[in-house]
Amino acid sequence: MALHVRGVLLPDDEVRDLWLVGDRVTFTPVPDAETVVDGGFVLPGLVDAHCHIGIARGGAPITSLDQARDLARLDRDAGVLAIRDAGSPYPYPELDDEPDLPRLARAGRHVAPPKRYLRDIGVEVDATDVTATVAAQAKAGNGWVKLVGDWIDRGVGDLAPAWDADTLTAAVRAAHDAGVRAAVHTFSESAVEIMVRAGVDSVEHGTGLSLDLIDEMARRGTALVPTMINIATFGGIAEQARAKFPGYAEHMLALRDRFPDVVRAAHEAGVPIYVGTDAGGGIDHGLAAEEMLLLHERAGMPAEDVLAAASWGAREWLGFPGLVEGGLADLTVYPEDPRRDLGVVRAPSRTILRGQVVR
Ligand SMILES: [Zn+2]
Repeated sequence: MALHVRGVLLPDDEVRDLWLVGDRVTFTPVPDAETVVDGGFVLPGLVDAHCHIGIARGGAPITSLDQARDLARLDRDAGVLAIRDAGSPYPYPELDDEPDLPRLARAGRHVAPPKRYLRDIGVEVDATDVTATVAAQAKAGNGWVKLVGDWIDRGVGDLAPAWDADTLTAAVRAAHDAGVRAAVHTFSESAVEIMVRAGVDSVEHGTGLSLDLIDEMARRGTALVPTMINIATFGGIAEQARAKFPGYAEHMLALRDRFPDVVRAAHEAGVPIYVGTDAGGGIDHGLAAEEMLLLHERAGMPAEDVLAAASWGAREWLGFPGLVEGGLADLTVYPEDPRRDLGVVRAPSRTILRGQVVR
């Protein structure tokens, strides 16, 4: 049975009627459709562009598909209808087309240097094995690979690139040769510089970005997924590390403190920014609205730009068409205009996924 939706379609300001037939949107009236939305403000669903449904609370890999389903439903119930999984230690390609789960853009496992990433999460490889591992993980995902660009080097006592610049650059090329996009975890100044110049597709976190590099990202169209919720945890990371690695602790605090200005500058320079919570492990699922509010309140992004970063813009970036003729039948509805009061994104009044009313 077709569904009928009437409301203000964002980003336009017009009241529109649309119909959902199976998993598709049409603006051509369908007789006898059931009206499920009449009023409110309609978005093509939120996107969490940096999320981990393969990592359980506490940081261990999940051990079953049902755990991934449960985590994905927490995001869905917060209005997130598409997820980019930024690295999973547990494969779950079976969930790509599951009717009641958000759409999935998936990386395979993180590709990380030996003993320099979260325990049991990445495939840990020496420089000589990086490109072959990237090619293998490109096959495990469905369009993305995830590279760990830097981490603490305990010998140095500070953040340092995961491998040398040639290896990191070759890793990006290996992803592109395999026909997928590459996302890179970076906190430091040095690694993000290498990766942006290597042509990586998205910078995750990106606390070490300089103004010059921001301009380079804007020129190249490199995306930034700031994960401000994650960066807010740097204080705890620094305090835990301070006794053994005081320089690292100070570095992390400095990166945290300048980060809202980095994101503000990136937005002003025209870098494409997307909403990602980094849920999984230490960060709860279902927090996309909180990340949106941080981008608005701390980094000064206008509400409409935050909505694009969390919805239609992110969907286009990931290849999930929104509320256009023939687009995918996903939407969230809010009782008030989220451009006026962004806080309303915390509580959608109606959620429809793949043409089915979720709530
Ligand atoms: Zn992450």
